[in-house]
Amino acid sequence: MTIPELYGSLVFNDKIMRDKLPKDVYKALRKTIDNNTHLEIDVANAVAVAMKEWAVEHGATHFTHWFQPMTGFTAEKHDSFISPIEGGEVIMDFSGKELIKGEPDASSFPSGGLRATFEARGYTAWDPTSPAFIKDGTLCIPTAFCSYSGEALDKKTPLLRSMEALNREATKVLHLLGNTEVSSVATTVGPEQEYFLVEKEAFKKRKDLIFTGRTLLGAMPPKGQEMEDHYFGTLKPRVAAYMHELDEELWKLGIPAKTKHNEVAPGQHELAPVFDTTNVAVDHNQLTMEIMKKVADKHDFVCLLHEKPFDGINGSGKHNNWSMTTNTGVNLLDPGKTPAENIQFLVFLTAVISAVDKYADLMRLSVASAGNDHRLGANEAPPAIISIFLGDELTAVLDSIENGTFFGKQQKVSMDIGAQVLPHFTKDTTDRNRTSPFAFTGNKFEFRSLGSSLSVSGPNVILNTAVAEALSIFAEAIKDVPADKIEETVHELIKKTIIEHKRVIFNGNGYTDEWVEEAAKRGLYNYKSTPDVLPVFIEDKNVKLFTKHHIFTESEIHSRYEILLENYSKTLHIEAKTLIDMVNHQFLPAVLETIDKAATVATKKKQFAGLSVKTEVAILEKLTDKYDGIYEAVEKLAEDTAKAEAMEDALELAKFYQSEIIADMDKVRKLADATEEMLPEGALPYPSYADMLFYV
Ligand code: ADP
Ligand code: MG
Repeated sequence: MTIPELYGSLVFNDKIMRDKLPKDVYKALRKTIDNNTHLEIDVANAVAVAMKEWAVEHGATHFTHWFQPMTGFTAEKHDSFISPIEGGEVIMDFSGKELIKGEPDASSFPSGGLRATFEARGYTAWDPTSPAFIKDGTLCIPTAFCSYSGEALDKKTPLLRSMEALNREATKVLHLLGNTEVSSVATTVGPEQEYFLVEKEAFKKRKDLIFTGRTLLGAMPPKGQEMEDHYFGTLKPRVAAYMHELDEELWKLGIPAKTKHNEVAPGQHELAPVFDTTNVAVDHNQLTMEIMKKVADKHDFVCLLHEKPFDGINGSGKHNNWSMTTNTGVNLLDPGKTPAENIQFLVFLTAVISAVDKYADLMRLSVASAGNDHRLGANEAPPAIISIFLGDELTAVLDSIENGTFFGKQQKVSMDIGAQVLPHFTKDTTDRNRTSPFAFTGNKFEFRSLGSSLSVSGPNVILNTAVAEALSIFAEAIKDVPADKIEETVHELIKKTIIEHKRVIFNGNGYTDEWVEEAAKRGLYNYKSTPDVLPVFIEDKNVKLFTKHHIFTESEIHSRYEILLENYSKTLHIEAKTLIDMVNHQFLPAVLETIDKAATVATKKKQFAGLSVKTEVAILEKLTDKYDGIYEAVEKLAEDTAKAEAMEDALELAKFYQSEIIADMDKVRKLADATEEMLPEGALPYPSYADMLFYV
């Protein structure tokens, strides 16, 4: 098969729909997909038949409603197509009803109290805007997941709602600006995904990797990433073979995997697809993470998506490239070439600036997790302070708007020629700063604070909603302005927005202490950890935003807040328990054995040969000292973990984990890692950092 033939061969895409569906059915479905209109059951029935036929032709025997519960993973429950008929035979059957609605038992998915366990029913509803696909012999139908009473229990529903909000407000603003050709606006996303590969055999021996996805112990090898020889380095053959198969598997699913390369850390790599509509991009990123793991297994690797698998080695993130596109194909964050496009561009640019300034707390919240706390602010990922990098040229344009020289005397002239031409920003002039959490990169923004394992849904819900809100304020401001005054009003609006929100723009180095001080002076948010930032979810200002645009109801907000808190504490609880287990059952016994060996040698030397045992005694003293220290530290960790188990308030608990348990774990680790260097090779029953990082 050639690559164009391979590409999308497992996707029920537009071309197949056009080929397989009766014309009127295709048209009705297209209308639903493009304009979000209601789908009639007879259309659904016809689509179901075509989908089933296509799926069976491609070897599928089952179908599943594929959804994204609040676990952050995807979920599926498989049903076969078979339907018994008379005479003990079966036919392959699939109805419109089965296509559009499913009823999985929802009681085992996190709901944050939304769904009492006695009401276990949940619904999945077909999302026709994301194409169905075949995975492992099963037709997967992307769906939204909600409770019996209609509350969202997943990551897709709020995303679709936020895209709708942005569509509504952006279209309104465009119409008010006189751009009436446009009938809809969608957001686009291209997520760059980082990951680690480790040997499966090594992985299997490390309880920390198995239970927590990251190493909780491990001294740095003599060589780390200081030689900077890995980034963009040649791919080792086994890694290249892995990437090749990964690309092919993704292509079959219509995921446009495009770029792959080695990353900064040894064993670390990156994959980036071509961008897509946000909803599809989010589904594709979830699938990509799943396929990465599956293909790794075939190549005797394990793919680690944790944000910080190895202490002292760069962690993994995800860059969320984001923009807005009209149904006429115009990227609204492209400065364009003509003056009219410039005004439009400036309106949308300043809308984003004001959105980020006002809702930086929510953006920080949207990337918060126990894993990502190891990165943000740790001088390898963007700082925890959310600011915008615009680059010098664009900042100069904003400055000249602010001081009145940009629009200048040309005001009152018609819209088409009302502004100077903006320079076309190339990547080179905008992408130099890698320390910024939110950077303008020529025709899109790149949100760089995401952790590698995160569903990109959350950050995009916030971006879409915050920008929708900014645009709705713009629309309010210009909606009653007479045509001959509109241009002047828009210029004023742009200027006012810049003045009010420019504090969030920062083109300097985000890794310095000066920036932390400066940001505090500017009044920017700086939430250092997940428990610090989670409560912003339920703050008045943010509840208003979400409810105004129908993204979340108040009870959905509270349920999500509960889930996030619980998730954080559970993650740390598992880490603490795992560390205690490894230290008590693996590490300390290994130290004890080494102590025992030294003592035996000393005894023999002295008894049989009357030799000096100075060195053995020194070793014994040192090791015993360390042994005692680690024992004490791990006891303290165990005590505090027991304390945590007795705590009831969810926020208090999360804060306790953040302040006490993390400190306890750090202490154990520090002592153990310093001791590891004194143990003989192979003393520990699990592979070392060097084994894992340099032998792939
Ligand atoms: P890098 O940031 O690594 O230098 P690129 O800038 O080429 O790489 O692209 C990064 C990602 O941004 C890719 O996934 C690309 O498809 C995506 N991207 C490009 N244009 C847009 C857009 N208009 N909207 C969303 N994502 C985009
Ligand atoms: Mg990038």
